[in-house]
Formats: sequence, structure tokens, C-alpha cells
Amino acid sequence: MATISLKITPKFVSTHRNQNFYRYSASNSVFYGKSVVDSKKKSFLYSFSADETHRNLFQQLHAANTSRKIKSQSQSFDVVIIGAGIIGLTVARQFLIGSDLSVAIVDAAVPCAGATGAGQGYIWRINKHPGTEKWDLASRSHELWGNLAESLQHRGMDPLQTIGWMKTGSLLVGKTEDESILLERKVKQLCDAGVGAEFLSNQELLLKEPSLELGKEGTAAFLPDDCQLDAQRAVAVIEKDNRRFASKGRYAEFYHEPATYLLRSSSTGGVDAVQTSKNTIFSKKAVVMAAGCWSGSLMHDLIKSSSSELDIPVKPRKGHLLVIENFKSFKLNHALMEVGYVNHQSASLQSTASDAGPLYDAQTTSVSMTATMDTSGNLVLGSSRELVGFNTEIDESIINRIWQRAAEFFPALREKSLDELKKSREVRVGLRPYMPDGKPVIGPVPGWSNFYVAAGHEGEGLTLALGTAEMIVDMVLGNPGKVDPEPYAVNRCCK
Ligand SMILES: Cc1cc2nc3c(=O)[nH]c(=O)nc-3n(C[C@H](O)[C@H](O)[C@H](O)COP(=O)(O)OP(=O)(O)OC[C@H]3O[C@@H](n4cnc5c(N)ncnc54)[C@H](O)[C@@H]3O)c2cc1C
Repeated sequence: MATISLKITPKFVSTHRNQNFYRYSASNSVFYGKSVVDSKKKSFLYSFSADETHRNLFQQLHAANTSRKIKSQSQSFDVVIIGAGIIGLTVARQFLIGSDLSVAIVDAAVPCAGATGAGQGYIWRINKHPGTEKWDLASRSHELWGNLAESLQHRGMDPLQTIGWMKTGSLLVGKTEDESILLERKVKQLCDAGVGAEFLSNQELLLKEPSLELGKEGTAAFLPDDCQLDAQRAVAVIEKDNRRFASKGRYAEFYHEPATYLLRSSSTGGVDAVQTSKNTIFSKKAVVMAAGCWSGSLMHDLIKSSSSELDIPVKPRKGHLLVIENFKSFKLNHALMEVGYVNHQSASLQSTASDAGPLYDAQTTSVSMTATMDTSGNLVLGSSRELVGFNTEIDESIINRIWQRAAEFFPALREKSLDELKKSREVRVGLRPYMPDGKPVIGPVPGWSNFYVAAGHEGEGLTLALGTAEMIVDMVLGNPGKVDPEPYAVNRCCK
């Protein structure tokens, strides 16, 4: 039996459904677990392998668990989904409502433990470019989110209360003449694409958002159709809806069970089953990898025994969000974003030319202003971008930068210090699944007959979730797709 000696130093990460999530340091490595840890059994609930050291330790833990004879059960479903963030959950939902297939969803933790729990909730098109590959997926997703909100209404539920759904419209704001030219061009592009956007002068903008101060060159692009939601509430509703299929034997959740390896069929080359830390879950039709920023290293671990040359280069791109609870100093009527955000989001590891403004290198830590109010009257300020591995610790210097940046746009914030607000603030940290080429990976894994990936949505996973889910389900069922899947194909990750 493997003996593991671990020095455990728990550090609080986040709270979800009254469970505290902690991070544990163990000899230079990091594990994540729930608050209730049995120190005698050292029963870690899950670990994420960020590098070779992590992987080795994880394998030791796995070996130790196995030798402790954790009862392993086997069950069978048509579809097994790995990862229960917004992508995995909406893929599950689409299978449940769009077919008669049964679905199992596996997560190392719980849905909002990943990037999804930190999301600001913008369901936006204003920051996308009409005519580009992603435009169609964003537009389809936008439409599907609208349908989902409407269907809640038809079922007698208020979308505002249930998923925090608000058609507040989006404001992309700029302070300089150059930004103003850019915003005007954006409005024209959107209007040419048949989307009713408006260019707002300084005066018009002030009428919409009196608390905003941009200086005399300040202007904005406004898209009244853009929406926002509360990511955590949306997840809760989708989970609840999915669970309605459990009584029919069509749905099961395997939370706190990391996928550890795949059982591959020697005859078909497909995946027969997903092995988790506790169960063997057989799949009759498809396995979908939707583990956000963990998808790359997990794929590597799961398929390393095969001769596959696949490398999904998804990286964790850390983001902080600052929430000031019950904020009274001013009210926001719309969701806002500074126009520079778009460049930070699309920055590639090797900066490429962009017609949208200055070049940014994704390696550089960036903070750009996003601001909105949620349905509870909290001011939600974002956000940062950093490529610093799988670390999810709160960095106070980043929080300060978010606050300072927001104060450059909202003078009322300059009258307050962040220290005064310590008791009424919440910080959310999430790891966006970043793809260096700026596009998610959606589709079948070459050489694996029934294995699919849906990952790498960076800062747009909430926006793109429903279109992604529809795309995956159409592929598995052999239905004609609504959006061209080619730009997202997995084969671009084959060496
Ligand atoms: C600060 C911030 C603000 C954002 N704002 C917005 C926004 O306004 N609009 C928008 O569209 N997007 C936004 N995003 C981006 C969005 O949140 C992400 O793109 C999206 O949540 C990604 O979803 P996912 O399901 O792919 O990944 P995740 O939510 O990270 O889910 C992945 C899941 O995989 C699980 N997992 C990991 N390893 C394993 C394993 N071995 N076995 C099983 N499961 C495993 C994890 O536990 C996790 O639950 C924001 C992100 C951040 C960080």
C-alpha cells in the first residue's frame, strides 16, 4: 500500500451551497477539497493535475484510494459528460430535452467550483465582431438564452428571480477620440449585420448612465438586445431541470468524483467507460469532455496510453471579480465594459495584428473595467486576466487595481476606500479556459469514434454555452447543425 505523508495547510477558496472549498498544500503541490476533511483518512475529494508533480502525487493518491478498497460500482448511460460547469450542464440539458438518451454528468467537485461560479453573467454580442467565425455561434447562443428565459416565463417562473435574467442592454464605453472612432465603426458593423446598435454621444450617454464620467471625448456603443444573468442561479435552475429526468432513469450526477481514466474499446476504438474515483460509468453513445481549463491536462492524462498526438492547449486564465454588496452610492441601468477589454480578451500568446486597437500580449496581467448591478443590488466590478497556472488565491493587489480602474470611470467610487468596504465585499476568482487561438474547441476527437470535446471558451462560456451544447448534441445525433462547426474542430489541436 502506498504511504503518503502530507503536510496539510488549508486555504479558503470559495463557498457554494453552504460548503466551504479549500485548497491544500502538500509538499509543493496543491489539492482541492471540501471543508469536511477526515484528517485520519486524509480523504481528499479531488485533485487537479497542473504539472508532472501534481500528476505523480495524484496517481499516488489514486493508488492509495484504490488500496483502501473504495467501493467501485458500474453503471451505464448513453452519454457521459466530464465536467459540470456551464458547458457540461447545458450539454446535459440539451441531450435531455432534445433526445431520449440518458445522461450521466461527472465532476471533480460541484458546478460552480470552476470558472462558471465566478462569471459576471454577460450574455453579450456587442464585444463580438459580425462576420467573424464566432459571431454565428454567439448569435445562436444569444437566441437560445432568450428562448430559455421565455420558457421559464411560460412555466410560471420569473426569469429575473430564477436566473437573474435582465435585458439591460450593453454599453461599450471609450474615453479617447481613437476609441470613439472604433466604437462608431463597431456600431456600423452591427447595424450592417442587422443588429440594432446605437452610437451614443457624451450627452446621450450621461442620460443613460448619470454616474459615469468619461471626459469630453467619451462615447459609447449601445446594444439594447444584450442581456445578463446570474451564473450561479442559472446553474441552479439548469441542474434542477436536468434532475427532473432522474426519476425516469435518464439522468444522474456524480459530483466529487474526478474522472481518472477512460476505458477504451479495443474493437471500436471508442470510449467504453469513464472511470471516476468511485465508479465505472459505461457509455453507450458518447463521452463529452467539458472540464473547462482542466480539459487539456485531463485529456493528456486520460489518453496518454494511446498513440494519439492530440494536445488541447487550453490554459487557465485567472480572473478576479469584486462584488460590493447592497451598493447604495449610485445605480447602474445597464451592463458596462470599457472598449479596451475586447483587446485584452482576444490577446493571443503571440500578439497578432488586430484592427480593433493596440496590441496586447496575453502573458501580461491586465485589468479592464466591467461594471454591472445584479438583481440583489450588488455592484459587480471586473475584471482581471492573468496566466499564472491553476492558482486561485485572492490577490489583493489585483482587487485594488480593479477598484482603481472602476474609479476612473465612476467618480463616486473615489470618495470611498476599498478598506471601508471590506465587510460588504465579496471576491470571486475563476480560471477561464483560455485557448491561444481565441476559439473554443468543440467536436469529435479524431481517432476516437465516440469521444467529443467542448472546452476553451475563455471569457465567453456563459454567452456561448447554449450554442455549444446544441452543436455537440447535433453532432452526436447526426442532425444538421445550425452553426458551422469547422472553426472549432478538434483536429486543429493534432500535432
Ligand atoms: C471573472 C470572470 C468573469 C466572467 N464573466 C463572464 C461573462 O460575463 N460572460 C461570459 O460569457 N463568460 C464569462 N466568464 C467566462 C465563463 O465563466 C467561462 O467561460 C465558463 O464558466 C467556462 O465554463 P466551463 O464549463 O467550460 O468550465 P468550468 O466552469 O471551469 O467547469 C469545469 C468543471 O470541470 C470540473 N473538473 C475538473 N477536473 C475534472 C475531472 N478530473 N473530472 C471531472 N470533472 C473535472 C471542474 O470541477 C469544473 O466544475 C467569466 C469568467 C471569469 C473568471
